[in-house]
Amino acid sequence: MIDKKEIISKLKASTSTHVKVAVADIDGVLRGKFMHRDKFISSLDDEFGFCSVVFGWDVNDQVYDNVEITGWHTGYGDFPARIDGNTFRKIPWQEDVPFFLADFESSHATDQNVCPRALLKNIIAQSEQAGYKPIFAQEFEWFNFIKGDINASQNSFKEMTPITSGMFGYSILRMSDNYGFFRDLLAMLEQFGIPLEGLHTETGPGVMEAAIQCSNALEAADRATLFKSAVKEIGKKHGIVASFMAKQTKELPGCSGHVHQSLWDLKKEKNLFYDADDQLGMSELMKQFLAGQLYCLRDILPLFAPTVNSYKRLTEGAWAPTTLTWGIDNRTTALRVIDGGPKATRIEHRVVGSDVNPYLAIAACLASGLYGIKHKLSLDNPYTVGNGYKDLQHGVLPRNLYEATNRMAQSEIASELFGEKFVDHFCKSRLWEWRQFSEQVTDWETKRYFEII
Ligand code: ADP
Repeated sequence: MIDKKEIISKLKASTSTHVKVAVADIDGVLRGKFMHRDKFISSLDDEFGFCSVVFGWDVNDQVYDNVEITGWHTGYGDFPARIDGNTFRKIPWQEDVPFFLADFESSHATDQNVCPRALLKNIIAQSEQAGYKPIFAQEFEWFNFIKGDINASQNSFKEMTPITSGMFGYSILRMSDNYGFFRDLLAMLEQFGIPLEGLHTETGPGVMEAAIQCSNALEAADRATLFKSAVKEIGKKHGIVASFMAKQTKELPGCSGHVHQSLWDLKKEKNLFYDADDQLGMSELMKQFLAGQLYCLRDILPLFAPTVNSYKRLTEGAWAPTTLTWGIDNRTTALRVIDGGPKATRIEHRVVGSDVNPYLAIAACLASGLYGIKHKLSLDNPYTVGNGYKDLQHGVLPRNLYEATNRMAQSEIASELFGEKFVDHFCKSRLWEWRQFSEQVTDWETKRYFEII
């Protein structure tokens, strides 16, 4: 824990008169501002006002017309935000300007609790009260394009050239091709407090994958959220545009944002998921956690697949799951158990796409796992051996955002895990998203129904 004195001395040592402060909105987009150092320091002990519209905007800054927490009917007043001193970083690609994350954890906001970071903190507190320290990591796949072409295509995003061509997963040659970008990602993310455990090219033109080093769950979500905007900012310096859409094109696999998870004792000395005496190396606690995740998954799917586009990734044969399954080191199941011995035994949640809000995905993983522990759920269904796409015995995942959101909105489990206010706000934001999509006349429709003579 970093104290106020330490923060002030770090800020005084900086040449920057201003500090960047950001909060993550419901989509995981960082919204923030530069604050003068003096104002920032005076806000450290207390709260500062941040316009509530950050929870009233969609990803295009259109205001929702269907949510209660903020809107024209509330006058869009401020919500009190609180800076988290532990998130202090300097932005190496922006002259080391100091950077902090904030959230809305005050009594007022908790009352309305829609802040993703505050929600995750609440769930981590529940976990720690029960004696479990959650250790998490997220890994991302994403597409990279040459920037010049995007301007030329006037935001139609159709004529873009990927930074590499061809299907070359793990290609050493392609990494050399864009060495400057790789070098800056590794070095600058490390300096920014986002150490990468691995970075490589993935299958598909211009696709890359990075695994972020695991840490406590809040830090993991901070790292994951910052990672996405950092990659975009570093990419821009190289004339590269990065996209974390879940599915870029029908022809290629989509982009995942898998979440790796384990529970440790509070001193972080022992991975409680590992049991040397178990045939699969899995402790009873891990089995209950996994059972909880399977039990809750269909009721909370929009937290792992939050956009219209997310569901286009979840298709058979595209390295993303479609069925309610788990398996041992099985990349066709929703949940993959990795027998990594005493330290690295973990569950990989493979439903999560790269378009996710990391705070919400990690909160959903943890809350649903804890639900299994609390209710001592047993993992009585046998695990899937072989092709998980064909294992239909426990059913399939909801197939689009509308279906998944309606299920979540009516789910007692979702309300139990996240509170009614959050579920109401989040589901309304997803139904808004669906409505925006449904009103569009797409190219596909025109091509199919125009009926030219
Ligand atoms: P994959 O098998 O999907 O290729 P990787 O080896 O790329 O997985 O990624 C491993 C990820 O798992 C890394 O982000 C790493 O930090 C994380 N990890 C390792 N041990 C644990 C653990 N005990 N709990 C949670 N995450 C872990």
